[in-house]
Amino acid sequence: MWPFGKKNPEALNLPIFVTNTLSGKKETFIPIKPGVATMYSCGFTVYSQAHIGNIRPYVFSDILARTLKTSGYHVRRVINITDVGHLVSDADEGEDKMEMGAKREGTTAEEIAMRYTNLFMQDLRLVNLDTNDILFPRATQYIQEQIAMAKTLEEKGYTYKTSDGIYFDTSKFPDYGKLGGLSDADIKEGTSESIEDRVALAGRTRLKEFTSEKRNPQDFALWKFSPRNAAKRQQEWPSPWGVGFPGWHLECSAMVRALLGDTIDIHTGGIDHIPVHHNNEIAQSECSLGHPFVHYWMHNAFLTVDGQKISKSLGNTVYLSDITARGFHPLALRYFYLQAHYSSTISFSWETIAAAQEALTRLWRLSATIQNESKSIPVPHEIQKRFTQLLHDDLSTPQALAYLWEILRDEDYTPKEKLGLLETADSVLGLSLINPPESARRRSVDELPADIQTLVKDREKARVAHDFEKADTIRTKLQNRGYRVEDAEKGAFLTLISPDPKS
Ligand code: AMP
Ligand code: ZN
Repeated sequence: MWPFGKKNPEALNLPIFVTNTLSGKKETFIPIKPGVATMYSCGFTVYSQAHIGNIRPYVFSDILARTLKTSGYHVRRVINITDVGHLVSDADEGEDKMEMGAKREGTTAEEIAMRYTNLFMQDLRLVNLDTNDILFPRATQYIQEQIAMAKTLEEKGYTYKTSDGIYFDTSKFPDYGKLGGLSDADIKEGTSESIEDRVALAGRTRLKEFTSEKRNPQDFALWKFSPRNAAKRQQEWPSPWGVGFPGWHLECSAMVRALLGDTIDIHTGGIDHIPVHHNNEIAQSECSLGHPFVHYWMHNAFLTVDGQKISKSLGNTVYLSDITARGFHPLALRYFYLQAHYSSTISFSWETIAAAQEALTRLWRLSATIQNESKSIPVPHEIQKRFTQLLHDDLSTPQALAYLWEILRDEDYTPKEKLGLLETADSVLGLSLINPPESARRRSVDELPADIQTLVKDREKARVAHDFEKADTIRTKLQNRGYRVEDAEKGAFLTLISPDPKS
């Protein structure tokens, strides 16, 4: 079996294709260093709880990381934690989200950061990310690196000073806006209709907040001065330009460099980051370093709720904790994400998550049956290669899931062949297919084989007759058949804890 991170021999020689936002095309993935893939995913701003839209980018990048790992790559992976400098508008204006969170909850920015980082990490683990395998640096731990990069940009003549900070002059970088093919007109007018609402909105906000002190509307802050006449900021640091804090975009450029190197293979994020944040990261990194920053940029589309953008004013925000509170397994959310390609918008509703849960539970049960039937080690088969090819084709998870279902239902394949496919699928999809959660293995008595049902009934009779010796003997018999018996108010229920040797 190939658990997370172990190589899948079927995948080793198959090329991986990914859609690169930089070229707008599907390209063959070629790493900078053979056998190694460096990956950076823009992280979450930890000023409130992450909603299910915020979690989608990390499941998408997890599928990518697992695909690379099972193909033999050593994946070096970073997801940053934004705990300073992300202002209410992506265009460096308005209140700092961290200070806003602190005010809202009557505590410190540091406490807010800890609280929501912990919740965020917990959610990632629940949807099956191996958080021990990823670095999660915090922006506030890399202030000196950010100052150093801003200083280099200043020395190279890319910056200017306004009354509120040090700004990057985008007119000095002719390639500015190359990601997503944004033209000057798109940026200035904010009317790009080719990407989603929030993207256009980012452009418009930027235009609205274009102050006369900025030389160009798309210029952005590298360092902001702490306001002199307002309440003292909780998060501020000395710098060559005075006390202040870093501009939001700078943290990613500085942390990529510090943790992964000057040029990396893959950078991911939601599509809202294309026009502003990622173009700004490119400008900072390429101008300070003098060479390309990222080879492959990949972006996930948005998750909507009942077809509408998640927004506070609509009151339609859904958290993973809401999903589990209604009795769904967190992996049902992962299954739901995988039903769509990462580059397509998906609409969440309580009906769609219920359908995802039902499908996943059926898959778990099918897997338990196949494991019982195959009894010994799986056998490799061409079907594993076909499945892997689908994932290598720009992470086509909907097609991969459909193919998995097709093979599992096909009686022409043996249980051992199906088990081989299940193990390959599990290592990449991360749906606990080989070790389904206990709840999925629990069976009511009438779902069990006839001889097991008879044993359960005999045991019940013995218990009623206070013949506990006989009841215990039957319990042992059931255990030997792989079932754990638990007595509940409405009668016994059984959990399949190991394959039934007789089925
Ligand atoms: P933020 O903390 O706002 O930077 O968001 C964290 C990540 O979530 C970023 O990669 C965003 O692009 C992404 N994101 C935010 N809202 C959604 C959504 N509704 N659907 C998918 N991704 C989202
Ligand atoms: Zn970033």
